[in-house]
Amino acid sequence: MQIPVLPDRINPWQLAAESGRLDGELKLAALPRLAALLEHASGEVKVALAAGVDEQGLRFIEGTLQTEVDLVCQRCLGPLRLPLKVAVNLALVRADAESARLPDQREPLLAAEADLAVADLVEDELLLALPQIPRHQNARECEANGYLSPGEPVPDARQHRTFAALASLLQDSKRSN
Ligand SMILES: [Zn+2]
Repeated sequence: MQIPVLPDRINPWQLAAESGRLDGELKLAALPRLAALLEHASGEVKVALAAGVDEQGLRFIEGTLQTEVDLVCQRCLGPLRLPLKVAVNLALVRADAESARLPDQREPLLAAEADLAVADLVEDELLLALPQIPRHQNARECEANGYLSPGEPVPDARQHRTFAALASLLQDSKRSN
């Protein structure tokens, strides 16, 4: 399947008026502010955005961005590959003052001029979605990188105890027969 080509720049107001779409992929390496925060800026971000005018007359751009980023876990300092699926829900505003009047679910996209770099839009949304302190979700993954959580029993020792208990139970049952 051929990947649709994203335009470099758009007129967001015109895109909304035409109920246009932005579909395609961008290389993470082409997003320098994001790439600077990543361990490796390899891979792409899938862009699937639709523009339009809602029932309140707001010009919107909404949809999803999907990618995987390589970060460093701040607990075990091991590599952390994090899938990101970002829901985009933007309303175009010409001035900051208009932002206050937006419904809760929409975030303002300041587009005073009729010219917007698609990469900037995508990069801003991904930056907002990055965790402040990236960490493996499961502490076991950190343990696999040699991290021992302080104050918690080491799972291996617990397992040995269980087997020891099982072994003595078996011994007991043999004796009683
Ligand atoms: Zn970790």
